Amino acid sequence: MRKTALALLASVFVFYSVAQDLAYYLPKDVTYNQAIPKPRDIIYHEVGEWHVTHDRLVGYMRAMAMAAPDRIKLETMGFTYENRPQVLLIITSKKNHDNLEAIRQQHVQLTDPSNSSSLNTTNMPIVVWIGHSIHGNEPSGANAALLTAYYLAAAQGKQIDDMLENVVILFDPSFNPDGMQRFSTWVNQHRSKNLVTDPNSREFSEVWPGGRFNHYWFDLNRDWLPAVHVESQNRLKWFHLWKPNILTDHHEQGSNATFFFQPGVPSRVNPLTPSQNQELTGKLGKFHAQYLDRIGSLYFTKENYDDFYYGKGSTYPDVNGAIGILFEQASSRGHAQQTANGVLRFPATIRNQFVTALSTLEGARVLRKDFLDWQREFYKSAITEANAAPVKGYVFGGKDDMTKSATFVEMLRRHQIDVYELGANVNADNISFEKGSAFVVPANQPQFRLIHGIFDKTLTYKDSLFYDITAWTMPLAFGLAYSELGSGKYTASLLGNKVDQATFPKGELRGGKSEYAYLFEWDELLAPKALYELQDAGVLVKVATNRFEIETTNGSKKFDYGTISIPVALQRENADRVFEVVKGVMEKNGITAYAVKTGNVVSGSDLGSSRMPVVTKPAVAMLVGAGVNPTDAGEIWHLLDQRMNIPATHLEQATFNRVDLGKYNTIIMVGGGYGELNKEKLSAWVRGGGVLIVTEEAVQWAAQNGISTVSFKRAKTPVDSTGKLTYVDRDQIEGAQQMSGAIFGAEADLSHPLAYGYNQQIVSLFKANRVFMEKSKNPFATPFYYGARPLQSGWLSKENSDAVKNSAAVVVNTVGSGRVISIADNPNFRAFWLGGTKLFMNAIFFGRNIDAASGRTEEE
Ligand SMILES: [Zn+2]
Repeated sequence: MRKTALALLASVFVFYSVAQDLAYYLPKDVTYNQAIPKPRDIIYHEVGEWHVTHDRLVGYMRAMAMAAPDRIKLETMGFTYENRPQVLLIITSKKNHDNLEAIRQQHVQLTDPSNSSSLNTTNMPIVVWIGHSIHGNEPSGANAALLTAYYLAAAQGKQIDDMLENVVILFDPSFNPDGMQRFSTWVNQHRSKNLVTDPNSREFSEVWPGGRFNHYWFDLNRDWLPAVHVESQNRLKWFHLWKPNILTDHHEQGSNATFFFQPGVPSRVNPLTPSQNQELTGKLGKFHAQYLDRIGSLYFTKENYDDFYYGKGSTYPDVNGAIGILFEQASSRGHAQQTANGVLRFPATIRNQFVTALSTLEGARVLRKDFLDWQREFYKSAITEANAAPVKGYVFGGKDDMTKSATFVEMLRRHQIDVYELGANVNADNISFEKGSAFVVPANQPQFRLIHGIFDKTLTYKDSLFYDITAWTMPLAFGLAYSELGSGKYTASLLGNKVDQATFPKGELRGGKSEYAYLFEWDELLAPKALYELQDAGVLVKVATNRFEIETTNGSKKFDYGTISIPVALQRENADRVFEVVKGVMEKNGITAYAVKTGNVVSGSDLGSSRMPVVTKPAVAMLVGAGVNPTDAGEIWHLLDQRMNIPATHLEQATFNRVDLGKYNTIIMVGGGYGELNKEKLSAWVRGGGVLIVTEEAVQWAAQNGISTVSFKRAKTPVDSTGKLTYVDRDQIEGAQQMSGAIFGAEADLSHPLAYGYNQQIVSLFKANRVFMEKSKNPFATPFYYGARPLQSGWLSKENSDAVKNSAAVVVNTVGSGRVISIADNPNFRAFWLGGTKLFMNAIFFGRNIDAASGRTEEE
């Protein structure tokens, strides 16, 4: 049914199957090279008729590179967790392709202020990255990529030639291949021949966790800065290889909306982003408006969306001398859906994305020199600002956890931040930073602004409404000792060797084979991984609940709480084999272990003391599925699977109710709804000796259902003292009471099993909820609590500030023979909160070692 008299009818009765041919999308006044395959020739359906799957999308991109080699070169940036290729098309004129590496090198030189002045931007091409559907269930972007690729490969004439001559396009058809595949499979399997537009239909409600996320249920549009995931890491490599001037980020929003393009809300731009960035965003916006007007599409700007958190695809470029552009198209979610604005058809959503990709390229062509000059100016002014700024550098790191420092260095290097080994010992903020275990980041370098975006604490804001988190001070998140260096402290002699790539510590077994015992400390990030690997190999381990000093083969040494002891005589294997296993595990995980030949300590408890209990191997299950917050659960899956190599069973609520829980000794519940869960069964399991770990809203659930005895503080509702609040301001006033995400310093009892491995009294935790726990009446049951002034970074209303003050961060309840560990906040936030990892892993490994009396309250 194409372009017939039925067209009018089709626009009224959309439940006919509408196969939209290319004429609906493409500009009318352009001729196309007939030798270039149309999408349908490769993907077997019209664009918008079905949701293209990722494999077919890649197939089409390959076909474009084959058919138009003069214009298109295909690169593979890397592979996702599910081994899907992340492809990048480099699209430009033949002349530019013949010169591509020289063009790239000259372009990147714009970002080097020591080298950029002499460049003439008059004839330089602009570099534009077009990126699609980082949220896999926002499909109009990735589906529009078929059209944009076709247009760029096939269009003929002066206009396209002129554009390709002046623009190098980096074309990324899918930012999130795994999520896209999941979503397209879902909607396609529910498509009826007669499209059903009723929003209640199953097509529009994906099964948990949905296609928004990557393999580990993470939102990749929060990962540009932490870059924890392979998808981001592969992409960042190419981003910095090319340093684009513009990066587009094609998303979808609620079905009843229209179309949004940046600029967003002016007061919610990150203060580190210079005002010229928003001016250029506005200039480019004129092109989007003009192109959308032409096809009659409604849109809005300067509302709802912001440019604050640098971990988003539309904001990250802003702190890299580029302009990030967020597009948000109202989502049909499936093939056609009834909305407040009538039936929204999938092809209509695709067309807006295609048209704004073209408006971006046209804007880039016309404003080319403005963008190039801005990029150069951005980096030159960074140096000027750095010279004037009071902070001259940052020092961080310490001996106790070299893996965490190396992970931090690795993250900085992904953003092309210069890092040096510390060249001389320095004392700052009462912390001794030592040569050999600490690093320096000088402020005076091109990435000056991003460095501030990573290290700064933020406490003042122009606005109190946030689309995402309000603070992410990275060294606090990593739990690293760090300090700002002013001109009084900072000297060139602090700069040792420049670090190209992070070096991770090499583990070792000091002292060789022992017939008696081995000891290793719990400070290192991967100590839990090492412990599990030992347990999995059948090694029996004990944990020190006291500090002690003992003679090792390398002299007398003090060991802290949480030290792991491996007594040789208690093992099933002989001493030779135990030595091999322990040595291998230490070397693999960057941990130093010590051989000891005696159990008799210099001070503290002997190795045979009852204060050295056996650590049980964890058998972990986590509640997942409908109702559970997928990202919170995903963070734990990723932590256990990727970082710790610990398998965990993912239990749906219905499965939980059915199965024997006896094979699990640890159950994890994150924020979410647990209406279907058999709570009597859970309670009985805890009483029988299980360790239940609850975080965020699950803390409230456990208390309300009588599984824990935690009680809560309530945040007050603000009182209108003026009596003059207006209706139109209500969003602002209500929004200010949200906890969008801020950083709080919890005071830790370092002798408590949940604090093993921490050396600093204050542990930074991330709070994005209004769960405020009272401290336990048992003085030993609140191992982490917030003091009188806990806020370290972020936005906080007065009412929420009062509530969090003197509240508990972690409470332990003894319930029968089991324990319930309530963690009010999110210790694993977005997988870069490595400062909370130890707390969480301690709950898994040492929950059962917590003394029963320390967790009892009168209610019990
Ligand atoms: Zn989105």
